[in-house]
Amino acid sequence: MLKFNELKLHAQLLQNLEKAGYTTPTPIQAESIPHLLEGSDLLGIAQTGTGKTAAFTLPMLQRLANRDFSLMPCEPRALILAPTRELASQIKESLDKYGEGLKLKYAVIFGGVGQGTQVNALRNGLDILVATPGRLLDLMNQGHCRLGRVEIFVLDEADRMLDMGFINDIRKIIPKLPPKKQTLLFSATMPGEIASLAAKLLHNPKKVEVTPPSTTVEKIDQRIIHCKKADKNQLLKKIINEESTELTLVFTRTKHGANKIVDYLNFFKIPCAAIHGNKSQSAREQALENFKQGKIKVLIATDIAARGIDVQGISHVVNYDLPVEAESYVHRIGRTARAGKEGDAISFCDETERDALKRIEKTIGLKLSAENFVGVPEQYVKPSKETNFRDPRAVRGPRPEHKPRPERGEQRNEQRPAARAPQSTDASKKPEDNRKPKVGFKFRNRK
Ligand code: AMP
Repeated sequence: MLKFNELKLHAQLLQNLEKAGYTTPTPIQAESIPHLLEGSDLLGIAQTGTGKTAAFTLPMLQRLANRDFSLMPCEPRALILAPTRELASQIKESLDKYGEGLKLKYAVIFGGVGQGTQVNALRNGLDILVATPGRLLDLMNQGHCRLGRVEIFVLDEADRMLDMGFINDIRKIIPKLPPKKQTLLFSATMPGEIASLAAKLLHNPKKVEVTPPSTTVEKIDQRIIHCKKADKNQLLKKIINEESTELTLVFTRTKHGANKIVDYLNFFKIPCAAIHGNKSQSAREQALENFKQGKIKVLIATDIAARGIDVQGISHVVNYDLPVEAESYVHRIGRTARAGKEGDAISFCDETERDALKRIEKTIGLKLSAENFVGVPEQYVKPSKETNFRDPRAVRGPRPEHKPRPERGEQRNEQRPAARAPQSTDASKKPEDNRKPKVGFKFRNRK
């Protein structure tokens, strides 16, 4: 089997790979690295978990190393676009790991956080910029970043960019890149729009395909559990408690759904957290870090937030809700069985999800083994807004004071002075109660 030291890589890179414990390149690395070192464009069809990040960062680091000139402020030498903050951060972590000792400068920029540090990093000059499209475009429009000197451009997870609606941002970014550059495009699947983007963007690309689109990783034990929607929480708890789960990643369709699962599991003293678009960047990072370190064993995520999560040791992926798009199923379950390990993917299917299941089975070309689950009555008190989630037995606080809505057309701020006016003790002068009258019955004394 091919070893890294046969790939003509820089001695420092080999040393860093050894330190990371990698001796053998994964198939995508073995196939891509020689082409990329020669300067070819590349179309990589690969999903996460295949080692694609090292496949493009290693040759990029090698090509940019030994720089003997000063960096230009705001003009990075290489640009990596990733769809999510998590993926972008992980790529930056890979650069730090693989590029240690090369004296190159990297930074990651994404939305949802202040731009000050990111602008400073750009001003100080960068060899490699990792970015999500929205924030990059923002900073470009403000004049903090120019792409005219980009030598290497990587578009990672292009199909996800399309799913997440970033394709227009990307179409605006691409013309700002110089015509002469090395371009790499990675995508797990090749929908028509990405294929035509690739055709325009890449020049005589080498094509490397490691996992054919829409096939699932062989080391994953996949099964379906048919159940009622209302029994899903209980089923999840049972799996966490009774199966030998190490780290469990649970996928829900909605952010609200993810929060509700956290409430439920916390009630039963199962430490967990949710990551989704409504959580702040720091809350997402904290949750992910706790999950990575095993401080929490269960992470509940929506598809978008989970994109790019690279956590070793996810033993179980649970599809609490089946994904609407069959392709997402492949992405989701690919979070387990990473780096050669085995994993379990368990999908709940309620009565409304049968069609989604059929589509998934058609896409992966496999009839999944199925079982049934019927819940039993149990004591679960849904936490109210006033309940302290960490202590489900916490006593409900008083109901918040009722504040009448301003009349239609009335300015909200006109209401305020009246609301602050000192309370009169005269009952007749009490402000009118705008609430609906209570509906009830009056019993009259019948003679
Ligand atoms: P990726 O597909 O880039 O997200 O990588 C998946 C995981 O495989 C990451 O945790 C990498 O650190 C790990 N990895 C990458 N290359 C190798 C390798 N050659 N040998 C072992 N693990 C690797």
